[in-house]
Amino acid sequence: MLVQPHLFIPGPTNVPEPVRSAMDIPMEDMRSPEFPKFTLPLFEDIKKIFKLKKGRVFLYPSSGTGAWESAITNTLNVGDKVLMSRFGQFSLLWVQMAERLGLKVELCDEEWGDGIPVEKYADILAKDTAHEIKAVFCTHNETATGVTSDVAGVRKALDAAGHPALLYVDGVSAVGSIDFRMDEWKVDCCVSGSQKGLMLPTGVGILAVSDKALAANKTSKMQKAYFTFEDMIATNDQGYFPYTPPTQIYRGMRVSIDMLLEEGLENVFARHNRLATGVRKAVDAWGLRLCANHEKWNSDTVSAIVVPDGVDAVEVIKTAYYRYNVSLGTGLNKVAGKVFRIGHIGAVDEVMLGGALFGVEMALRDCGHKFELGSGTGAAAQHYSDTATRSASSRAGVTARKAA
Ligand SMILES: *Cc1c(COP(=O)(O)O)cnc(C)c1O
Repeated sequence: MLVQPHLFIPGPTNVPEPVRSAMDIPMEDMRSPEFPKFTLPLFEDIKKIFKLKKGRVFLYPSSGTGAWESAITNTLNVGDKVLMSRFGQFSLLWVQMAERLGLKVELCDEEWGDGIPVEKYADILAKDTAHEIKAVFCTHNETATGVTSDVAGVRKALDAAGHPALLYVDGVSAVGSIDFRMDEWKVDCCVSGSQKGLMLPTGVGILAVSDKALAANKTSKMQKAYFTFEDMIATNDQGYFPYTPPTQIYRGMRVSIDMLLEEGLENVFARHNRLATGVRKAVDAWGLRLCANHEKWNSDTVSAIVVPDGVDAVEVIKTAYYRYNVSLGTGLNKVAGKVFRIGHIGAVDEVMLGGALFGVEMALRDCGHKFELGSGTGAAAQHYSDTATRSASSRAGVTARKAA
């Protein structure tokens, strides 16, 4: 293949070259006396990505879904009442898992395109004076619909009610790309994965936990085996793992964390916002709309774009793939055929996104949408040009040289 397919799905995301080369290494001895010199600083530094000072971060050889399971089974008990909301495929799957594991879910079923119903949560928590609800769940960024919710608002609701429930966040497509503050928002478990904002291959489930979650672990009697905190803590404290770790991914993670911290998290968030804004301007110019039902919910890591009547989103995605070598995200479950998604998360810049928008324009036109070719790419180019700085490319150059 002359040119790699251009990857614009919201995970797995593009892997930066310095990260890729850091992973192109021989197998190493994960029980060597040298290994902890690598792992112990890694465990500390990944906490910075979550803005977590105390607590700890567990790395599991799994996908993000494994970290969901770890969070629940290590901190809760069968029959516990938990507050959740469902408004997209990922929040849906989290609810399904909670039910499978025997939790009693008090569910807010929302329209797909809406976010966490913070006011409903506040009402429910205020009424729960007996504190039967043991945990409150938030999908920070619903990747299926491109909706970012107000986790800080949920924390405010808990505090206003004086409610002691634990706070769980699915941050898989948010952490390292969208503002997230584990300590400040007093989040107890935050789940992430390697293949989204951390720009790594799939294969690592990441779970950040607060001291309060670690205390809850002491009284949790739910069945757990592979994901048990206890085994992780005992070995991690020595710089090792209870089972064979994917050492190459961790070598890559070392570099991706360094890149994010070198750019500065606030700059990383601003970059995602700027790139996403360009995509949103293109969507407007095409005469289309986002799946997100309100501007406040617009996601800076993925845009789910609703196709007009008479256009099939599946055809748009297939056309983009086969004719133009562009991979777009598909519509999942309830929004299948109705939306296609552009991932703008991780290692992307304006020129890459310009290519994505260019490919989308051709595919949309081929599939029958009537609009002016170049209107979206033009609107995005104008935004990127108006807001450009010199620093982005030189920063990437510095990191690349250092890693090489
Ligand atoms: C990708 C994703 C997941 C699932 O992660 P896997 O790594 O596929 O298990 C969960 N939640 C959200 C919000 C996601 O974007």
